[in-house]
Amino acid sequence: MIGGLGGLGGPGGELAKATCSRAGCREAATWRIEWRNPRIHTGDRSKTWLACEEHVGYLRDFLEARSFPVEVGPFEASETSVEIDSAPNAATRSDS
Ligand SMILES: [Zn+2]
Repeated sequence: MIGGLGGLGGPGGELAKATCSRAGCREAATWRIEWRNPRIHTGDRSKTWLACEEHVGYLRDFLEARSFPVEVGPFEASETSVEIDSAPNAATRSDS
């Protein structure tokens, strides 16, 4: 793989770089988006997406358009315990 914005990882570092969850985007994530689909997630289950500066608004709007509970906060690269889901590839379906 050819590094783009490399430089933060130390030699031999095993930290997977946290990148934006938007399909096709490889920017480093600076935001985390926690959301839940009340129809399929019961109780405290929630999902986490990561987003770069450019796509945080897109992903948040995508979820808010579906009336999902969404929380957006800053993402620290050191948070390696986050369970990250893939964002949908096609977010183009119109609901109305
Ligand atoms: Zn992005």
